[in-house]
Amino acid sequence: MQNQPGSSLFIKTLPVGPLQCNCTIIGDKASGQAIVIDPGGNPEKLLQILADEGLSVSQIIHTHAHFDHFLASGQMHHSTGAPLCLHKNDKPLWENLEMQCQRYNIPFQAVPQPHHWLEHEETLKLDAVTGKALFTPGHTPGSMSFWFEAPKLLVAGDTLFKGAIGRTDLWGGDYPTIERSIKTQLYTLDETATVITGHGPSTTLGDEMRHNPFVRA
Ligand SMILES: [Zn+2]
Ligand SMILES: [Zn+2]
Repeated sequence: MQNQPGSSLFIKTLPVGPLQCNCTIIGDKASGQAIVIDPGGNPEKLLQILADEGLSVSQIIHTHAHFDHFLASGQMHHSTGAPLCLHKNDKPLWENLEMQCQRYNIPFQAVPQPHHWLEHEETLKLDAVTGKALFTPGHTPGSMSFWFEAPKLLVAGDTLFKGAIGRTDLWGGDYPTIERSIKTQLYTLDETATVITGHGPSTTLGDEMRHNPFVRA
């Protein structure tokens, strides 16, 4: 995803943490506000980017509560004061961070409870761009995707990957549910949209609608 010359929109995705989860910063350089999505590690790196761009964080939002997507959320909250936001159905996973990390032998620091429960179709507001939270369960019971219409950008977390979909064999995952989420919530959006996935390369919705071996439009 390229930043458009002349636009005040700032978009940066970088892999963070032990499982290289894609963390995305979406900022408006005119208002100086930013949303951080899935800070799964490397908080000092994320804070440096925000400082370099002159952005302050208004919300820290999460596609779901697998540990690799929120390992640095506590540090990001303490450093920025921004509220942590999650769909309520992933509360049990969030509260079981210790159990999740033990299972994968990953060191962790305690993360405070989310401050705000995200709802389906809730508006995510920045001056230059308005986003929308979409409830896309299946990978976890509370998985969400985030749709930014103006830059045609979908942040899909672990629901949709380039040529794959999220695992449904972990804590509360369900295959028919993820399939329904992808077909009814994601494949109905603009097919030219760029998809930032939870791990690995980006893709476009059109490519996945036509070629994804698991779920086609
Ligand atoms: Zn996951
Ligand atoms: Zn993940």
